[in-house]
Amino acid sequence: MSSLASVTQWHHEVDVLICGFGMAGSSAAIDAIDADPGAKVLIIEKMSERYAGGNARASGQSLMINKNPEALKEYQRAMSAPNPIPEDMLDIWATRMSQLEPWIQARAEEVGAKFIKGTGFSEREAVLEFPEFGAREAVAYTSTILPIPAGVWLAFKANVDKRPVQVMYETPLVDLIQDPDTLEVFGAVVEQNGQRVNIKARRGVIIAVGGYENNLDMQRNYCGYQDIHPLGTPGNTGDGIKILQRPVPSSGICAIAASPAASGRASCIPM
Ligand SMILES: Cc1cc2nc3c(=O)[nH]c(=O)nc-3n(C[C@H](O)[C@H](O)[C@H](O)COP(=O)(O)OP(=O)(O)OC[C@H]3O[C@@H](n4cnc5c(N)ncnc54)[C@H](O)[C@@H]3O)c2cc1C
Repeated sequence: MSSLASVTQWHHEVDVLICGFGMAGSSAAIDAIDADPGAKVLIIEKMSERYAGGNARASGQSLMINKNPEALKEYQRAMSAPNPIPEDMLDIWATRMSQLEPWIQARAEEVGAKFIKGTGFSEREAVLEFPEFGAREAVAYTSTILPIPAGVWLAFKANVDKRPVQVMYETPLVDLIQDPDTLEVFGAVVEQNGQRVNIKARRGVIIAVGGYENNLDMQRNYCGYQDIHPLGTPGNTGDGIKILQRPVPSSGICAIAASPAASGRASCIPM
């Protein structure tokens, strides 16, 4: 992480900075600006506009509609058993998931797109992934937004485009700017045309930069794969995970310590 003290200039100031313009980033931007229409919301995206949308662009566009949060929790618990999710987080997630359908439907209607039941490309009413873990109970049905392919992504992008949300393409997140003492995140460093640019975020930074499917080292380390041919976006190289794994910056406060030989020279030990 970059230390707040190292920032000599803020190049941009916004209220909410959203990193990554896929499904998570677009949903966060829509919600942020609708919650406070006066807020300055900025999305930064690593890829060009043509290749933005992350895996959302390439995905099957099947929306899992849930009406039973308890069954959804069971399903997720079973799937994430080796790495359990904290129960309070699971609770909020499942409750919100079960209430999501009208919000998605409204986003489709807002931009004149058609929200339908089913996958849009097969006769199946529900896509049941890992039924042995409880998908049958958790998934009421599948929905999507037309047209096939990419209708869900296109509708969400259109929702962002019609709102006063700024999007900077070809602008990857490279670091967060953090106060080393309070651990508060004040903004982010992005890259534009090879230059580092500091963005101050007065009310929050949201990281929605996808996974690490295009990072072979991380695939080897975390999944044991030797070779991969991912189907999704080339932009997802685990950048968010790598940034969050970096150590907290030094506060720049120096402790003056006498040298062991008591020669009178002082050493500066970053704390
Ligand atoms: C082939 C395929 C089919 C799928 N089918 C379905 C389906 O039918 N239903 C379903 O629910 N899910 C499906 N999924 C999964 C679904 O697509 C993902 O779960 C979803 O897109 C994740 O959304 P996200 O916003 O977290 O990430 P993404 O949509 O991947 O977006 C991440 C964005 O961050 C950008 N980014 C990366 N690094 C940086 C950086 N350093 N700075 C700025 N931006 C950065 C990327 O370029 C990208 O635009 C499918 C996935 C694939 C690959």
